[in-house]
Amino acid sequence: MIIANWKCNGSKKMIQDWSKHYKDTYIPFKNTFVGIAPPYIYVEQLINLINAYDLDIEIGVQDIDISSGARTGAISVDMIQDIECQFTIVGHSERRTIFDESNESVSAKIDSVGNKVETILCVGESAKENNDKETRNILEDQLSVIEGKVLPSSFSVAYEPVWAIGTGNTPTPEEINDIHKFIKDVVQSSSENSIVPNVLYGGSVNDANAESFFKQDNVNGALIGGASLQGKSFANIVNIFNGKAI
Ligand code: PEP
Repeated sequence: MIIANWKCNGSKKMIQDWSKHYKDTYIPFKNTFVGIAPPYIYVEQLINLINAYDLDIEIGVQDIDISSGARTGAISVDMIQDIECQFTIVGHSERRTIFDESNESVSAKIDSVGNKVETILCVGESAKENNDKETRNILEDQLSVIEGKVLPSSFSVAYEPVWAIGTGNTPTPEEINDIHKFIKDVVQSSSENSIVPNVLYGGSVNDANAESFFKQDNVNGALIGGASLQGKSFANIVNIFNGKAI
């Protein structure tokens, strides 16, 4: 599973160029979920281009609201389903820090999504928490949002150390592998139906380092910010994941 998070980036022109560059670079594959989460307003344009180029890419969103109706500025799960989105990211660290998102609201979002679309829950520790060797405690706290929930089998977690996002720094592949195993164990023991989720790594993944992460047994894919904004580099990462890098 390879997911692009475009955050608040993009324009009509960028999306046209991106689609062409992606199409020219990617090598067709089977059985890999490749998704892009653009800003909401570009979903339709991107879906049209993906259909026009016949690309095997699902479109999703970067966040979701818990309900519909009198909620100014919000977008509901039913709306994203209506425009053919297949997944939503929830709990990204930028939502938690810039928009004060709490575990409680992340939990409510997971409930409101249910199995209508796929959910990718982001978790990750800050630099200070990492230095203080608090990573596992922090992850346990963030994963407490799934306690007692019956989760869809498609439920995924993205391990995104906050200190690795957009910095060029990453944990070692072996450290990531250990943490992913920990996340799988926590989700299995705390979800009501004992699911073992796919765990993606996110934080400064690019086409030069992706292979080292993908080689790890417990790394089931990646969530990619900066390097997903160029169609060529994102396609390179997809090719690497599919073992088709040249
Ligand atoms: C992200 O913010 O989800 C992310 C992984 O960003 P980047 O790849 O730019 O570090």
